Amino acid sequence: MCPTILYYRETNEVNYDVIIIGAGPGGIFAAYELTQRNADLKIAVFEAGHALNKRHCPIDGEKIKSCIGCKSCSIMSGFGGAGAFSDGKYNITNDFGGTLYEYIGKKQALELMRYVDEINLRYGGEGTKLYSTAGTRFKTACIQHDLHLLDASVRHLGTDINYVVLENLYAHLRDKVSFYFDTPVQTVACAKDGYEVICKHTGQESACEDTIYHCKKCIISVGRSGSKWMETVCRELDIPTLSNRVDIGVRVELPAAVFAHLTDELYESKIVYRTQKYGDKVRTFCMNPKGAVVNENTNGIITVNGHSYEDPAKQTDNTNFALLVAKHFSEPFKDSNGYGESIARLSNMLGGGVIVQRFGDLIRGRRSTPNRIEEAFITPTLNATPGDLSLVLPKRILDGIIEMIYALDKVAPGTANDDTLLYGVEVKFYNMEVEVNEKLESKYKGLYIIGDGSGITHSLSHASASGVHVARNITTNK
Ligand SMILES: Cc1cc2nc3c(=O)[nH]c(=O)nc-3n(C[C@H](O)[C@H](O)[C@H](O)COP(=O)(O)OP(=O)(O)OC[C@H]3O[C@@H](n4cnc5c(N)ncnc54)[C@H](O)[C@@H]3O)c2cc1C
Repeated sequence: MCPTILYYRETNEVNYDVIIIGAGPGGIFAAYELTQRNADLKIAVFEAGHALNKRHCPIDGEKIKSCIGCKSCSIMSGFGGAGAFSDGKYNITNDFGGTLYEYIGKKQALELMRYVDEINLRYGGEGTKLYSTAGTRFKTACIQHDLHLLDASVRHLGTDINYVVLENLYAHLRDKVSFYFDTPVQTVACAKDGYEVICKHTGQESACEDTIYHCKKCIISVGRSGSKWMETVCRELDIPTLSNRVDIGVRVELPAAVFAHLTDELYESKIVYRTQKYGDKVRTFCMNPKGAVVNENTNGIITVNGHSYEDPAKQTDNTNFALLVAKHFSEPFKDSNGYGESIARLSNMLGGGVIVQRFGDLIRGRRSTPNRIEEAFITPTLNATPGDLSLVLPKRILDGIIEMIYALDKVAPGTANDDTLLYGVEVKFYNMEVEVNEKLESKYKGLYIIGDGSGITHSLSHASASGVHVARNITTNK
């Protein structure tokens, strides 16, 4: 039985055909496709964060050096979602970025990702480069050293063009869809012929709290920042979930020349290595040629990430990428994200945020100091605290990362240089997987859960594709 809301006060009621919760790529592409397929639909999007032009992270590196815990984090929330200031790498592949193909089939998943790519090109991404691993000679070079290069095509929009695409998509949608920004949804409950949505307005003027928003169909697309809320919704509505994975590691930064032969051809290479010591899989993730390392705030915990720009004027001399070890837990442990958060908290406790260490210092068992970082032949792009990652990362994870750095050194000599910088920690939290069917519909008819919030996708292209998929299902009334 789906719980319903008991009214205890006078409320207004506003009706929509479809309500979308969350304006990240999943929500945006669901809205886009719904409007394309049926212009008569009355659609609303509720977004906890700000409109795109109001999204500004206060960290300027001078007056404000570290996260001050804004009520709504402009990096993770608002129109464009977590992807708004990202590198805008749309990977068209079933090999990573999510398991959407398990629900809708490999062919269809790829078709939807290509469709999303076409829209991105139409709305400002035209002229950006599509890289591909097809036929690359690096596959052989990698495999000779037990490194496995995954297949993908990647459209690199870059942080700047990605923003332009979002601006254009918003301009296209704003007259067709009612957007409610600074409006986190608090409750979703079943109602006669659909769902009721109750929200809280965190901005200046709104009667939102005295209003019940009713819809025939509801699409929840709340991403990683909405993971805790999603857990509550699933608990309240008794929707089954599964949570057993977290990826933990570091962000590596080195001179761009070290990886140039790979990044010039492939832009991003996803390479997987199985460690000899434990048989764990370590992988490269989110490669940013000539990019910058950045802080990321997830529920108040500071972790590390990276991005890069298409505009040569904004590029740096360094390339960065993450090295992550996947940790799968078995019964009775269920809180994989809690485990990742604890490790990230430890680095925050020791370093006041992100810690940086030279590879040479790490393998010599000594902390990096401001002097050692300053004397290195590489200039860090993130102002992090020099420290000792071995006091933070579990031995097994650290051993795996060190082993992979030596393996990568064989295909990209210079990776295992003493001056290579390691920032920690990078944690890839996975939302719990929510039980949905091939339409991405929960056990309640008309209640869809998509994007990273569903645990099914972990990337821009998969999240966007899941939005298109649901919109098509709704408009064809299957
Ligand atoms: C710094 C960074 C760089 C990245 N780079 C890349 C990249 O290059 N390529 C790639 O494929 N992926 C990248 N990612 C991951 C990518 O951004 C996500 O996979 C993608 O944004 C997921 O889309 P989504 O719509 O599912 O969720 P999100 O983008 O997280 O959007 C969800 C939205 O829902 C809102 N929300 C949450 N709870 C509520 C609520 N209760 N009520 C209303 N609204 C709510 C949030 O504010 C948010 O705006 C990056 C992520 C980060 C943080």
